Parts: sequence; structure tokens; C-alpha cells
Amino acid sequence: FMLLTKKLIEVRNVLNSIDHNDTLKLPSIVVIGSQSSGKSSVLEAIVGHEFLPKGSNMVTRRPIELTLIHTPHSKEEYGEFPSLGLGKVHDFKRIQETLKDLNMAVPESECVSSKPIELRIYSPNVPDLTMIDLPGYIQITSKNQPISLKEKISELCEKYIQEPNIILAVCAADVDLANSEALRSSRKVDPLGLRTIGVITKMDLVEPERGVAILRNQDYPLHLGYIGVVCRAPGGSSKENITQAVIKTEDAHFRSSYQYSQRGVFVGTGTLRRKLMDILEENMGSNLGSIIKAVQKELDETRYQFKVEYNDQKMSAESYVAESVDKLKHRFKDFSRAFGKPQVRLEIRHMLEQRMLDICAQRYWSDPRINELPQLDSSSTAEEDRLYWDLQLDLASSALTKSGVGRQTTQRVVDILSRTMEQLAEAEPFNHHPDAANTIKAMTHEILSSRSQATADQVENTIKPFKYEVECTDGEWTEGVKRAIALVQTELEMCEDALSKIKTTVGTKKLRKAINFVIESDREEARRAQRREAVAKLRESNPRQYLEDQARASRDSHSSESTEPHGEHSQDDDTQAQEDNRSVPEDEDELEAAMRPHFNPKLLVKAREALSLRDRALVLKYRLSALKSKTCKNAKNKTQCPEAFLAVVAEKLAYTSVMFIQVELMNEFVFQLPRMIDSRLGVKTGQEAMEKFAKENPLVGKHLELMEKRTKLEEVWEKLNYLVRRQEEAKARKW
Ligand code: GDP
Repeated sequence: FMLLTKKLIEVRNVLNSIDHNDTLKLPSIVVIGSQSSGKSSVLEAIVGHEFLPKGSNMVTRRPIELTLIHTPHSKEEYGEFPSLGLGKVHDFKRIQETLKDLNMAVPESECVSSKPIELRIYSPNVPDLTMIDLPGYIQITSKNQPISLKEKISELCEKYIQEPNIILAVCAADVDLANSEALRSSRKVDPLGLRTIGVITKMDLVEPERGVAILRNQDYPLHLGYIGVVCRAPGGSSKENITQAVIKTEDAHFRSSYQYSQRGVFVGTGTLRRKLMDILEENMGSNLGSIIKAVQKELDETRYQFKVEYNDQKMSAESYVAESVDKLKHRFKDFSRAFGKPQVRLEIRHMLEQRMLDICAQRYWSDPRINELPQLDSSSTAEEDRLYWDLQLDLASSALTKSGVGRQTTQRVVDILSRTMEQLAEAEPFNHHPDAANTIKAMTHEILSSRSQATADQVENTIKPFKYEVECTDGEWTEGVKRAIALVQTELEMCEDALSKIKTTVGTKKLRKAINFVIESDREEARRAQRREAVAKLRESNPRQYLEDQARASRDSHSSESTEPHGEHSQDDDTQAQEDNRSVPEDEDELEAAMRPHFNPKLLVKAREALSLRDRALVLKYRLSALKSKTCKNAKNKTQCPEAFLAVVAEKLAYTSVMFIQVELMNEFVFQLPRMIDSRLGVKTGQEAMEKFAKENPLVGKHLELMEKRTKLEEVWEKLNYLVRRQEEAKARKW
């Protein structure tokens, strides 16, 4: 029977969930009344539970859009705040607290807010109704309420009591109706009282004669009439439904006086409920035509927009998620194809060769005896020298094999994989999805960290034999020589590049001068050191001679510098003594110092750098010709060709490491990652997660919204048309 209201409430909820223009409004019952008129009590009697926040300090600051949904086949009673996502709230005390919090969140300075709170109540005991509870009118402005509060409340109410809404004007029986703010306001927008219903509360506070007179109000007759109620909550457990208790009390009250049983006098919450349902149903029915028109218009506009903006292309959160995940997996696949065994080997070998170059620089190229190395073979070479260079090679080789190859090579690959995944996670479309991007990084980390220790250990184990002995075939040797030449060549080029860069920044002439100065002062320093050493030796081996020398030096200096006091000299420290010991007269030394050109310390640093680059380049050139010489063609001469031998070792380490890294790490990663992506980011994550994901991308979000709007409007349109058909059928039957 009340199908229309029920269906239209569904329609209303659908319309509320989409962004539509304001003309698309379904009629609702708007409840207005002065503070303490008993407004809350009436609403609670209808709902059957105390759920509205109470208190003296302006507890209703926002409109509450209350939708009652009759659920005849379920005993469950609960509320829902669609915009809060709290789910079903079965405890009405909790609903009350939530409403209170929402109201109190409106700052005191704003007093009231026009942003409605949406609340739906599902129960077998409620009728299908939509009601809007508004802040109560206030009579006097109290000291701590701003002056404008009264106006603000009036404005808010006025906005809501416009057509097509039905006005429920609540007035207390013990207050003169002429003073009712609710009736005064409703009269402004509905002067004939065509859509206003008066509810007179607190009927127990007036005598029956007076009560009936109020209900028959002749001064301001309402088309929909007045209904008297006694809605004081009976108290008791908050779990029980109070509607029946209220009705029982009312029955007792109204039956006790014959006046209330007269025709045309309406009393009781039960009557009120029925009346509200009828009015809403009728109102909705008469509005159906215009509602359909408005929906049709909105639907047309949405369809047009969809065509223009998206060329009617369908989009869903699911398809977007699937597409994004596919993109990611494809890119990963492309990467893993491009980063196969050969590329990994290249990386690892490069890393090991850098290490090898470091070792060569340290152990060979800075050895002052390095130029002896090519002559090592000649018969004149002492056994001692041979041993020295053999040992060098052993040390260099084990420096390479024992440098933590397992950990380092594994880490290198881990780094490359992590970096790549990071790039994929930050690229379109995941740049819109920070959570998903983090998930990608976390998955990468998870897989890699679960494998890296085992991989490093494995690699370390398999290269273990090379720590003791590295054998190589002639072929391997030839390859090693080739690579060593290439590496040394590059090293040489880098050296020369760096040198010429210094030359251009400093200037060739200036640099040459600075270099000469550095060389000269180094020589000078060396001379002094030598002298110091000689003195120290003398003092140690022949203290007497030393003292005699000292004394002579002191005498000499006295004859030339008689101004200096005698005593002080004997107390002079060693340095002074050494200085005095030089053959060069002191004044001459000072003179030289004064003539010394002054160089910027930074320039001197550059000069030293250039000097060492020059020396290094020279050594490298030597080494290159050694490596290209006949000696290095033969693997037996590995001692003379350490670079070639180490290149062979590096290659062997790389080859072996990569084999295991591939098996233990790469293959695992390539196998596990796509599966993880599917389960943590894909369509398996569920509808809600997918929607959230899709909406993070603003373009997709807009597209989806419009799609959703179109779908919902179509659904609404279907529903409305069904209702119209039924209405017409009913009319036809009546005829
Ligand atoms: P609101 O401020 O308009 O929401 O009014 P309330 O529903 O909170 O009621 C204000 C006061 O009037 C409360 O103390 C209620 O107990 C009391 N009240 C409400 N309805 C009745 C009634 O029918 N009879 C009597 N005697 N008191 C009532």
C-alpha cells in the first residue's frame, strides 16, 4: 500500500548519493518548533527510540536528515550514517552520541550549519518516512549566544520549509499558539496551510476543553489539521521500543476525557504516524510527474556529457585496476627480459673489475719498483725479487676473491631490482596511487630481503675454490689480457682527461710554475729530512761527537750574530739545533724564503694532483706496453702480468656468482613478483579497494563518477516509470 513512499525513498537515497542539481528534490517532512516544544520527543516516539541529543546548550546545530525504512521481514533495528561509514549501529545510545559529536563539531562561532547530517533508521517498527529535524527556534538570546543566532536558525528553517516539503509545526499545548514561532514561519511560506500539519505536544498539561479548542484552532486552520500528542518518554531500558508505551499512555489519557473522541479531533502518536505516511504518499504521488521530468532532464544531460567527454566509453574501477596492474606487469616483464643473465653478468663483472683496478693501483701502480716487473724474467733477477712479486700476485688475487664477493654482487643486483621497481612504482599510473606505489616497494623489499642472505651465502660458497687457486686455460688467458689492456687503456684515458681538465681550469703556464715549485719544495723537504736523520743517527751512535758539533755550531753562530744573548742559545730545542747545523747561512735562507713565489694553497693542491696524475699516467703507459708485450702472451708469466691475471679472476668470479644469483634471486623474483602484484593490487583486492584505487586518479575518478551517475539515474528513471505505470493501473481499476 505504501509502496510509493518506499520506492521514492529509495529513489531519494540514490539521488542523494550522486551529484545532481537542486531541482531534483523529493518531498520530505520538515520538523520545526521552538526549543523545548517537545520536538525531539515526538520524533523519538515515532522512531521508537531515544536517539536525539539532549541538553540545554543548543544540541541541534545541523539539520538531521532522517530516513525511516520499514523492514517488515527483519527484527533488526539499527541506524546508519551513510557518510561516516560506521556500518550498522544497533545501539541507539551510540547514535545519540554520534549525533551529539557531529553537532558539537560545528564551532561555537558559527552556531549553526546548514550541512545536513544523514541518518537512516531501519526497523520493522517504523513507517517509511523521510523527516528533517531542524534546530529549535529560540525565544530569547542568552548572554553567551551571539545576536545573530536567532536569525541564523530562522534562515536555516526557512530554507528547508520550501516546496515541495511538508511542514510539521510542533507547538506545546501549554504555550499560546499565537506565539508559536513554528506556525508563524510556516504561514510565511504556506499561507493557506496546504502542506503544514500542526502537532500539539504536552496535551497532558492542559484541560480537555482547552485541548480540544487548540486542536480545532479556528484562528489558523490547517488543511492537514492539528494532532494532539503526549510524548513524554516513559523511561526504562533503552533497548526496548518506546512507541507502543507512548501510545498506551496517550490512549489512557485521551480515553479518560470524552471530548477527545469527538469527530474532527485527532489525537495520538499512532494517528500522527499514519497521517504522516498518508500525506507523504499523497504528496509524492502528486509530485511524481515533476520528479520524473527532472530525472529525465538530468539523465539527458548526463548522457550527453558522457558522450561528449568520454565518447560513451565505459569505465569501471575493476577495468582500471586490471589495466594498471597489467601495465605494471608488462613493464616488469620487459625489464626482466632486458635484464637477463648476460646483463647481470656485465654489471657484476664491471663491479669486480673496478675492484680489481683499485687493487692494481694500490698493490702495483704505486709500488716504486713497478718498473722492474717486466724484467723479472731475465736470469739476472734475484730469487728474492721473484718471491716478492709472486707474493704480490697472491695477495692481489686474494684481495679480489676475499672481498666479500657474495654479499657485494648480490647487493648489486638487489639494488638494481629495487631501483627499477621504485621507478615503475613512481611512473604513470602509479604516480596517482601512493599507497599502491608503497605496496610495490614493500613487495620488492619483501621478496629481495627474504632471498638475499641465502643468495650471498651460496655465491660465497661457490667461489670458495678461487680463494685458494685459480687455474686458467690459454683461451681464458688471452681474453684476460685483452680485457686488462682495455681496462688499463680506459684508466689511462681517465687519468689524461683529469690532467687536461686541471690544465684548462688552472692554465698551463701557471700550473707548470706551481708544479715546479712543488717539486722544488719536495726536494728541499727531502734534503731536510735526510739531514735530520743524519743528526739523529749521530746523536744516537756518537753522543760526544754530537755535542762537539753542537758547540762548534754555537760558536760559529756567535761570531756572526753577537747580538744574541748567550744563555738562550743553550736552551734552544732540537729543531733550532738542526737549523743551526746547516751549511747554509741563516740570512741567506730567509732571503730565499722571501724570494719564493707565493702560491695559493688551493693551486698547490691542484699542482700535486696533476703531478700524481702525470706519474700515474706514466706508470699506466708502461703497464700497457708490458701487457701488449710478448711476455704477457703466455699464461705462465702471470706474475709479470698481474692485470691480466686479475681480469681472469674477475671474470671467473662474475661468471660463477651470476649463475647462482640468477637461480636464487632473479628467477625467484621474476616468479614471485607478478603473483604478489595480482594478489595485493589486482582485482582480488575487492570492490571497495578497487574503487578507492580508481578514484585516486582524478581523471578516472571523474569518468567513474559520471558513469555511476548515469547508471543511477537510469535506475531511478526505471523505478519511477514503474511507479507511474502502477499508478495508472490503479486509476484504471478505480474507473
Ligand atoms: P525539544 O527541545 O523541542 O526537542 O523538546 P524536548 O522533546 O526535549 O522536550 C522538552 C521538555 O518537554 C522535556 O523535558 C520533555 O520531557 C518535556 N515533554 C515533551 N513532551 C511532553 C509531553 O507530552 N508532556 C509533558 N508533560 N512533557 C513533555
